[in-house]
Amino acid sequence: EADKRHGWHPFTPQEAWTDDGHEPLVLVRGEGAWLGDSEGRKYFDGNSSIWTNIHGHNHPALNAALRKQAEEVAHTSYLGFANPRASELAEKLVSLVPSRTLERVFFSDNGSTAVEVAMKMSLQYWMQSGEPTRDRFVAFANGYHGDTMGAASLGGVSRFFERFRKFGVEVDFVESLDELAKLDAGKIAAVMVEPLIQGVNEMRPWPEGMLRNLRTACDDAGMHLILDEVMTGFGRTGTMFACEQESVVPDFLCLAKGLTGGYMPMAATMTTAKVYEAFLGAAENAFYYGHSYTANPLGCALALASLELFESERTLERLKPKIAAMGELLVALKEKQPMVHEVRQCGFVAGIELRQLDGSPFSPSEKMGEKVCVAAREHGLLTRPIRDTIVMMPPLCAEVGDLEKAFEALRRALASGVS
Ligand code: PMP
Repeated sequence: EADKRHGWHPFTPQEAWTDDGHEPLVLVRGEGAWLGDSEGRKYFDGNSSIWTNIHGHNHPALNAALRKQAEEVAHTSYLGFANPRASELAEKLVSLVPSRTLERVFFSDNGSTAVEVAMKMSLQYWMQSGEPTRDRFVAFANGYHGDTMGAASLGGVSRFFERFRKFGVEVDFVESLDELAKLDAGKIAAVMVEPLIQGVNEMRPWPEGMLRNLRTACDDAGMHLILDEVMTGFGRTGTMFACEQESVVPDFLCLAKGLTGGYMPMAATMTTAKVYEAFLGAAENAFYYGHSYTANPLGCALALASLELFESERTLERLKPKIAAMGELLVALKEKQPMVHEVRQCGFVAGIELRQLDGSPFSPSEKMGEKVCVAAREHGLLTRPIRDTIVMMPPLCAEVGDLEKAFEALRRALASGVS
């Protein structure tokens, strides 16, 4: 009741579940890859909350880390103070980036601010490096980088961001590297991209080699490359970071969502010694940016515990057969369900695109993706669509048996004649 009277949910009222008379589900507990509602029903968490809970829910090691840190100290300022968990986490993150060339870690609060930090650092870097004319960004059509004003400026999803465009930074949107090559490179501070796969663009993977070619293009033109690994970071695509798969090291790496195992909002922007050095010297060269909760010890303790789990539970090694199983389930679903037009997969992420039987898209007013997700919920699968693409992004701890149950729920939802 209070939710109805006073709550304002993201992306509502336009896309509220309640449009179709469905109350938002009230979730009260979690266990591994499963969530429970207030009426005692269980659901497979097909969306890892919101692409965040990589080790699932209610993990004893994460719970213990949180409790231990809370009993030591929950929050201290990072402005002129240090805390052991933040130092340990910075060191750990640096050790995880293959070439260790990203050796500076700037903490912030969420994916949007991780992007915002990279954008501001890049702009200020060029101001302090004698190339102040580099004050524009390049971003890709249909990309998504967050909702703060700077991050939203680079957002290529018109229905979300078009109306705010005039308030933001200068951006050239491109669809391909050929288009990028035609721009005046001397005016560009950085290129921003989601590596391997564009998430909010209905889970669309890039062609192989795209990232490598983009790195070369940035090097040739002297532009920074910012990788937004907010969604792809921490194992989602099968490697710790997506950029490893094309052996690319960016100038800025933006991390959030899975950083704390989905327990708390926290982000990190990693960059090179070369960038850091441009901020040394005179006081006016400093990076004047920071949040109240920057490097929050609870978040850092959770992130350390989450990264330890990758080792103790051999998360990435055990993920490989699950990625293969997901691929097989996707193929089987497409074969059996005529409404499934295309399935797209990148690691442990999938998009299942629904279309009409003649191959044409459903009209947006039909809200087919939403209807299928509502029906799947009845069969024990919780996920959400992006337009008519159903997202499958389970916790990395989900077992093959869990996946089979989730796909069976989706199959039943599709077969139940939601159309
Ligand atoms: N970048 C990408 C690629 C994302 O998927 C998201 C969130 N969906 C963000 C940035 C923004 O992150 P946050 O919602 O934590 O601000």
